[in-house]
Amino acid sequence: MLSTRSLRGVDCRSRAVAQPRVAIGRGRLDIVCASSAKFFVGGNWKCNGSVANVRKLVDELNNGSVPKGVDIVCSPPFIYIDYVMQHLDKDKYQLAAQNCWIGGNGAYTGEVSAEQLQDFGVPWVILGHSERRSLCGESNEVVAKKTAHALAAGLGVIACVGETLDQRNSGAMFQVLDGQMQALVDEVKDWSKVVIAYEPVWAIGTGVVATPEQAQEVHAYLRRFCQSKLGTAVADKLRIIYGGSVNDANCKELSTQEDIDGFLVGGASLKGSSFVTICNAAGAKAQV
Ligand code: PEP
Repeated sequence: MLSTRSLRGVDCRSRAVAQPRVAIGRGRLDIVCASSAKFFVGGNWKCNGSVANVRKLVDELNNGSVPKGVDIVCSPPFIYIDYVMQHLDKDKYQLAAQNCWIGGNGAYTGEVSAEQLQDFGVPWVILGHSERRSLCGESNEVVAKKTAHALAAGLGVIACVGETLDQRNSGAMFQVLDGQMQALVDEVKDWSKVVIAYEPVWAIGTGVVATPEQAQEVHAYLRRFCQSKLGTAVADKLRIIYGGSVNDANCKELSTQEDIDGFLVGGASLKGSSFVTICNAAGAKAQV
């Protein structure tokens, strides 16, 4: 696999295509690959499902053939986490919550803390999803503080960033992404258990998927941003996944983009066969 991962430019705004580094080895030219990031696929079930639907979905997922060596994380609503934990095949899938409280346990009616998720055996949490930002008023700072708290409690965090259509069309996209990312950079000390989900708001639940080129442009930008703030080693290892109307038909092409390390999937994660197909897009990546 050709990778230019460790060679991305340091200028965050640079659109120049990085050149692969070549080295002479055993009489031939080797492409030096820096990345060992595992492909990551998250299924965000949102506030969907019923006991019957969740049972059916769990059965479909358990019957699906998914590749080893891929982190696959399913994120049911809180109320179904216990059932899913009991019945989903742990050899194939991990669990994520869709949110958690900004601090520890206490008088926070209706909230679930990162400590409780950790105690219950839920290893991941999605934070800063655009629906929580827009519907629940979560600011960049709140998302970043939640992220730092969840990490300190021992969870892995899928931290979501992304611009609205107005922001993209008005030329504010990079500024918006900078603000979302900088808030995380200010709070997070250890990035080893962070996955960044780039989810353009205009693509979430709309059926309008970013083109592979659009997604790659932003993923590369985000990685360069991290490189400039956190260093090459952290940026190279950081998984940046794409979310926004990913389905079984478009996942393969998206997955072949150099800086796309997986997906966060909403609607298509509610259909077992589609989600399994998306998980298998990791195979297309491996062949690039
Ligand atoms: C999401 O909500 O994280 C998402 C990407 O949704 P969808 O796949 O339905 O666009």
